[in-house]
Amino acid sequence: MSDSRVIIAGGGIGGLATALTLHQIGVPCIVFEAVRDMRPLGVGINLQPNAVRELCDLGFTQADLDGVGLPVKEWALVGLNGNDIYSEPRGLLAGYHWPQYAAHRGQLHMLLHDALVKRAGPDVIRLGSRVTGYRNNSDGSVGALLQYADGSTSEVSGSLLIGADGIHSAVRAQMHPAQPLIHWGGAVMWRGTTSAKPIRTGSSFVGLGTHRQRMVFYPISHPDPQTGLSMVNWIAEVTMDSTEGWKPSSWFRQVSVDSFAHHFESWIWDWLDVPALLRQANCVFENPMIDRDPVHTWQDGMVALLGDAAHAMYPTGSNGGSQAIVDARVLGAAMVEYGITQEALAAYDAKLCGPISQLVVRNRGAGPFGLLNIVDERCGGTFDNVDQVIPAAERREFMAGYKAAAGFAVEQLNNAPQTIPDGARARPAPRNTARRSP
Ligand SMILES: Cc1cc2nc3c(=O)[nH]c(=O)nc-3n(C[C@H](O)[C@H](O)[C@H](O)COP(=O)(O)OP(=O)(O)OC[C@H]3O[C@@H](n4cnc5c(N)ncnc54)[C@H](O)[C@@H]3O)c2cc1C
Repeated sequence: MSDSRVIIAGGGIGGLATALTLHQIGVPCIVFEAVRDMRPLGVGINLQPNAVRELCDLGFTQADLDGVGLPVKEWALVGLNGNDIYSEPRGLLAGYHWPQYAAHRGQLHMLLHDALVKRAGPDVIRLGSRVTGYRNNSDGSVGALLQYADGSTSEVSGSLLIGADGIHSAVRAQMHPAQPLIHWGGAVMWRGTTSAKPIRTGSSFVGLGTHRQRMVFYPISHPDPQTGLSMVNWIAEVTMDSTEGWKPSSWFRQVSVDSFAHHFESWIWDWLDVPALLRQANCVFENPMIDRDPVHTWQDGMVALLGDAAHAMYPTGSNGGSQAIVDARVLGAAMVEYGITQEALAAYDAKLCGPISQLVVRNRGAGPFGLLNIVDERCGGTFDNVDQVIPAAERREFMAGYKAAAGFAVEQLNNAPQTIPDGARARPAPRNTARRSP
């Protein structure tokens, strides 16, 4: 097969947001996705206001987003004594022009998938098609090497290749053959959902515990009007000795609650019963918290990396999925300016690779949960009055620094122009450098 479409490797949130963006600006594309069936996999994911803004610009409505999640009202860190370390309003309540959403990752993924198929037609996604590598051709086109579910292979030619194939990206492996193995700092996460009554504001993101052992939980559905129960997403996390390194076999494994609940047996307060929350879960997945060392560039000729393939990061800042959506929009904006060209990929790379690589490193330092590390350093995690451990102004400054680095500081976002103005189209290629299809 040969044509001038942009080839996207991977139909996750990043790949689909890219395809929707390219369709919006008039760029033909095709998505090759390794799995045979698109299914709503995963549990809770946060969409920061910068990503929600981009989804709105892609034509998604509040009703669409309410169908897959709910607006977040608060972000709170609570110590093991049950006292607040820090809390702040989020989304519209914090003055953003766009809400923050706590969503079901699988349902969000299907929302993007269904919208893309509706807008661009079913042929825009080819399932059971794994990209195994690429060739930058001398005529300025790019070849994607494909392996299909039946074991057969082919090479498909396109104008550009976007590697949105996740943390185990084959495109990145070819672009950076000397990259180190996956990085694991010793934290293990058990993730699940439980039908429960939401606490605090009714839509609070709560981090509870210490820098080495904590629970994070937040509702990802509006409460049932009859029962008042929401689907509450939770992540139980323990940091252990990582000297043996990360074992690939333990990624995304379903486990029983009994295999880890003992770490949280005593976590019971009058406002929360953690063991009960864990034991009532439908199913639980075990994930080591992993990322990748940043690379100096996300571009190789007509090929660029996007989403987790570019910047797999610890979920401490709840921004991996959001950043994948923002990547897609920045890439689209570059094509509006430079057309479907290497220059567009270079502009995208120049804008994002440096700052987002720094964010990856910042998330290793626990991202916004770094406040827990400071509390631990100063008082061993035990306090009566948090103001005596870390004053309110210092807490606020710490959080403001994180939000600015992650691109969702309130004023910065509210005052920023649209990434892609309404009605913008990709710039056509100049006549003498028009892309040829072999
Ligand atoms: C199954 C799954 C469940 C997840 N659950 C959660 C969750 O509950 N909470 C959370 O915060 N984050 C979760 N994530 C991660 C989160 O979705 C991503 O960090 C974020 O959305 C960035 O998306 P991405 O599209 O860059 O990468 P991914 O979401 O990893 O998507 C990559 C896609 O590429 C496909 N793919 C991989 N290799 C190839 C290849 N060689 N050729 C073609 N296709 C390929 C994969 O099947 C996948 O669909 C999950 C990811 C996955 C894949």
